[in-house]
Amino acid sequence: ASVSDELTAAIRTIPDYPRKGILFRDITTLLGNAKAFRQAVDALVQPWAGSKIDQIVGIEARGFILGGAVAHQLSAGFVPIRKAGKLPYETVSASYSLEYGLDEIEIHKDAIQPGQKVILVDDLIATGGTAEAAINLLRSVGADIVAACFIIDLPDLGGRKKIEALGVPVRTLVEFE
Ligand code: 5GP
Repeated sequence: ASVSDELTAAIRTIPDYPRKGILFRDITTLLGNAKAFRQAVDALVQPWAGSKIDQIVGIEARGFILGGAVAHQLSAGFVPIRKAGKLPYETVSASYSLEYGLDEIEIHKDAIQPGQKVILVDDLIATGGTAEAAINLLRSVGADIVAACFIIDLPDLGGRKKIEALGVPVRTLVEFE
């Protein structure tokens, strides 16, 4: 089987979570599968193997798990983007709209040096709203965003196109309707 078939098989789908009508793609089964976890991390960063990437930026919370492993693999640092109020030092923040209301994410104001090459990592891209807010935040602190990487793409929700339109290349490994 191809890597993407193996990764697809390692992801569990939970119907009606967190709300009725939603098919939640659960990556904890992939993370708990040693072979699939390694394959996912290796495949995510394969285009940048051997290039100089300064920082991997992970989005709370599943982006932390993948981002730490990716940072190690590329010999890069790791920088967290968190929900508002969780980071201890001075922050820069960006808001974005959810289906109901607004959410806000933050990064430490000194976490990225202007011009540093960064790769953004999260588990899944749906509408792209979360990644767009993260890109705005990273650009506001002067990051050079090399790419945004996700294990799962839900192409029907248009996130990849939204992020590519911002000039950021997108890498994903598996797709679900
Ligand atoms: P977006 O902002 O692109 O609409 O949604 C992506 C964000 O929501 C990501 O941070 C992702 O972790 C989370 N998310 C939305 N749906 C799912 C899902 O089905 N499975 C997982 N694992 N995360 C999801």
